[in-house]
Amino acid sequence: MPSLKRTKLADLLKQEELLFHKNHPKSYELYQRARKSLHGGVPMLWMIRWAGSFPVFVREAKGAHFSDVDGNSYIDLCLGDSGAMTGHSPAAAVDAIKEQIEKGITLMLPYEDVLWVGEELQRRFRLPYWQFTLTATDANRFALRMARMITGRPKVLVFNYCYHGSVDETFIVLDEEGTPMSRPNNMGPQVDPRLTTKVIEFNDIAALETALSARDVAAVLAEPVMTNIGIIHPEPGYHEALRELTRKYETCLILDEAHTICAGPGGYTAQQGLQPDFVTIGKPLAGGVPAAVYGFTGEVAQAFSDRLDVDDADVGGIGGTLAGNALSVAAMKATLEHVLTDEFYSRAIALQECFTEGVESVIREFDLPWIVKRLGSRSEYWFHPTPPRNGGEAFAAIDHELDRYMHLFALNRGILMTPFHNMALISPDTTREDVDYHTKIFREAVKALFEI
Ligand code: PMP
Repeated sequence: MPSLKRTKLADLLKQEELLFHKNHPKSYELYQRARKSLHGGVPMLWMIRWAGSFPVFVREAKGAHFSDVDGNSYIDLCLGDSGAMTGHSPAAAVDAIKEQIEKGITLMLPYEDVLWVGEELQRRFRLPYWQFTLTATDANRFALRMARMITGRPKVLVFNYCYHGSVDETFIVLDEEGTPMSRPNNMGPQVDPRLTTKVIEFNDIAALETALSARDVAAVLAEPVMTNIGIIHPEPGYHEALRELTRKYETCLILDEAHTICAGPGGYTAQQGLQPDFVTIGKPLAGGVPAAVYGFTGEVAQAFSDRLDVDDADVGGIGGTLAGNALSVAAMKATLEHVLTDEFYSRAIALQECFTEGVESVIREFDLPWIVKRLGSRSEYWFHPTPPRNGGEAFAAIDHELDRYMHLFALNRGILMTPFHNMALISPDTTREDVDYHTKIFREAVKALFEI
């Protein structure tokens, strides 16, 4: 098994940085100008966290590809971290958007299209009632509010190193001794998250029972498969235990499908026949136009209605003037009807299998202590010999320098991987050639690193 030489990695990284600068002069120029009006030179601060020392400015994106202002072309395996899992500007959504945009964008009143969307979500996720928001973050926030309201309990339970958007209660992790602490760099929290939240490791049934048995937890908020610190699959029997224990202690179970919607048309929930109290989804639902939803059971709907004073429904903490706007709904209908279809999933999942086989073949050839993991149309390589069981193990295995090198090597050769992860998504427009090109570039990056 070859060992990783840190000095070589540092040298290679420097070479890649030089190459990146050389090939992106216009992006660099725009970035310098943007720094004078945008804080950090970007519309959102996380956009500076790409592998290059400044972001690539996009000229145009279509399907599985995009080009930048310097004329470089890319295969997009990041796909807006799932927001463009449908491919960029999918034709059906674009047509529906063009049509709707002439007929009103936002009114605070429903159009008939919402019925189709509600019924389709019902069919896919087997939950009877739905509400719309604009982001997955808001869907999670509102599901948590409903759960607290109907249970009368104050706390939320999440898993170590989860991510559910910028939901205040979730910025909590376990330190090395297993004690909860505010997540490092949690910016200006309104309250210490230790007051609102319990945090345990994923796949630890005993810790789950201990945490729930105090009967002060309104809801467990979980991705059914963790995807934000690598892909961490539930161990056999874990979901059964999670459902049994949440029922036993009368805690709501909220499954966040923002990313796991890559598992199938009804996410991991439908694929595995899970029975959560709530499901939340956002990101690709409207082909890239802001739209998200949360669905819940009849029991939840009844318990909530029993406590709701409709006269205050507009100022009760669950809201959003633009939620359910006509444009988002039209885009959602077109995306669900024509893009995120059964056919899309069968093709994308088969192609993702080719992607993981390609990566595995390189790992075998170079005898690397690395693995690759897949969930539906998403996969992720991991510079560690064994799959982590939980967020703590996954966090401990992160190698930022190696991550940066692999990302930058790919970017310099026309492949965009998802930042913060080594994650790749397949869209309806990704081709077998795109996948094979990734295998070739992945092999070249490894060869440069491990060749004597
Ligand atoms: N849930 C999960 C699982 C996510 O990964 C994310 C974002 N990465 C969100 C929710 C929040 O999505 P948004 O930022 O679009 O609100």
